[in-house]
Formats: sequence, C-alpha cells, structure tokens
Amino acid sequence: MSDCIFCKIIEKSIPSEVVYEDDKMLAFKDIRPSAPVHLLLIPKKHIASLQELSVEDAELIGAMMLAVPQIAAQNGLQHGFKTQINTGVQGGQEVFHLHIHIMGRPV
Ligand code: 5GP
Ligand code: ZN
Repeated sequence: MSDCIFCKIIEKSIPSEVVYEDDKMLAFKDIRPSAPVHLLLIPKKHIASLQELSVEDAELIGAMMLAVPQIAAQNGLQHGFKTQINTGVQGGQEVFHLHIHIMGRPV
C-alpha cells in the first residue's frame, strides 16, 4: 500500500524506533506516546483493520498475540501492560494498517 504510513515504516522509507522485527511483524515506538512505554505492533502484511482480518490471517494474528508479552517484557513491562486495538473510524482508528498498542509503565 503506497499511501500507508505503516507500510512505509516497514519498508524503512519513514524512520521509526524499531524494538522488534521478524519476517511477519514489526514493533516500534509510538511517535506520540500516551504512556512511558508505548509500542505499536503491526503485521508486515497490509491489513487495514480487524474488520479486514480474514481466516487466512489466523496464524499471523496468533503469532502477533503470542509475541506481545515477549516484546512488552523486553521493553520493561514484564509485570504487566495494556493492549488496545482501535478499529474503524468509530473505534478511533487513525492509521488504517492493523496495529496493537502495547502500553505501560516500567517498574
Ligand atoms: P490509532 O488511533 O490508529 O489506533 O493509532 C495510531 C497511532 O499511530 C497513534 O498513537 C500515533 O501516535 C501513531 N503514529 C502515527 N503516525 C506515526 C508515525 O509516523 N510514526 C510512529 N512511530 N507512530 C505514528
Ligand atoms: Zn500498510
């Protein structure tokens, strides 16, 4: 998706502070953090939102959910964190590339 800001972050044509990357997903620091640690975990496949997720993405979204606690712990949130997925205009979604917010305060 040439006009998607998160696809550009995946391609590294827009800089970001990457905290985790593998062949399927990327996690980076939110540019306007609303918590001391505020990360965004995105699939490398462009999926606009949860509403566009299909059954063929089940393994991908499963792998992402399994990665969340590991990425959180690596960023100081080993004692807990909040996750959020905003979906659609009414859900407060601003960037239409599926992302999981991971937020918390290191202890
Ligand atoms: P949404 O409201 O779509 O769930 O959240 C989008 C998030 O992406 C926001 O928290 C916003 O701060 C973040 N964001 C938007 N543009 C950029 C960017 O260019 N770089 C980074 N690192 N975060 C961004
Ligand atoms: Zn995208």
